[in-house]
Amino acid sequence: MDVPAYTAPADLEGALRALSETPGARPLAGGHRLVLDLKRRVRRIPLLVDLGRVPELRGVRRGFGGALEIGAMTTITELVAHPAVPESYAHGLLADAAATLPDPQTRNRGTVGGSVVAGTDIAAALIALDAVVRVRGRGGRRRTLSVERLLDPTAPGLAAGEVIAAVGVPPGTAHGAHVRRPVPATLASVCGAAVAVTFHMDGAVASCRVAVCGGPRPARRVPTLERALTAGVLTAPPLGDLFQGDQDASGEYRAHLAWVLARRAMARARERTGPTA
Ligand SMILES: Cc1cc2nc3c(=O)[nH]c(=O)nc-3n(C[C@H](O)[C@H](O)[C@H](O)COP(=O)(O)OP(=O)(O)OC[C@H]3O[C@@H](n4cnc5c(N)ncnc54)[C@H](O)[C@@H]3O)c2cc1C
Repeated sequence: MDVPAYTAPADLEGALRALSETPGARPLAGGHRLVLDLKRRVRRIPLLVDLGRVPELRGVRRGFGGALEIGAMTTITELVAHPAVPESYAHGLLADAAATLPDPQTRNRGTVGGSVVAGTDIAAALIALDAVVRVRGRGGRRRTLSVERLLDPTAPGLAAGEVIAAVGVPPGTAHGAHVRRPVPATLASVCGAAVAVTFHMDGAVASCRVAVCGGPRPARRVPTLERALTAGVLTAPPLGDLFQGDQDASGEYRAHLAWVLARRAMARARERTGPTA
């Protein structure tokens, strides 16, 4: 294996410079996914740019109406422990998704930005919450795009040399939950379903966003599940080739799970509204 060079700049401009000066350089966050990719030789990386010393990428800020601004290098432990998060409407969904990281060590090291790029359970929760990423590039370039769009394989995503500086959760009132089925051997998700839902006074679903994760494809929104849950149908809608199969499960099994787990997530979200909804 070619061993990549390593640098740990002390500020964001230094990190952006290092990334843009070396073609193929990658940001290093918690390393859970990136180091695995290196060991499996999924990709050749000439330079790892460690973002761990960049102070402006850390921390959580509270905004109006339960909105959150989460620094990309905030660890999952820091995220759920921050006092702004339990006060936010997004807390249930984020806490469920954080709990999918199997132990304190992984939560202490895994970051919000790395989890978004990896497209796992945290990313599914953020898509359900309609979250955005604040992207920074060299020369002061800034742009914002949705997590959904960032992970869409048909969209351009991040350009070389760009980093996610923060993740923004918009203000809202939805209740949410994330439910998943883990792979016993690795504790990664066979399938996970994140639901953010608002209810009418009579308990009917007013609106919902559903995102799924699991298997080779990154987390993504599933309008078919949203329509089925909003209509309250009891039979699984056709999900086509929503999932790919791999060594853990077939695509068909994942699609079946997605419907079952999305309904469970909806039921848990409803419980979180309290006794009246
Ligand atoms: C055994 C185990 C089981 C796990 N199970 C789950 C699970 O079930 N569900 C779950 O959600 N998580 C799970 N995780 C955690 C999850 O894999 C990581 O937290 C996450 O995927 C990667 O986060 P990281 O900070 O380690 O990122 P890294 O591995 O450092 O980076 C991942 C990718 O993101 C890029 N990147 C990182 N930060 C930025 C940034 N700011 N801007 C641009 N690009 C960036 C990197 O270049 C790389 O391509 C598990 C981890 C382990 C070790």
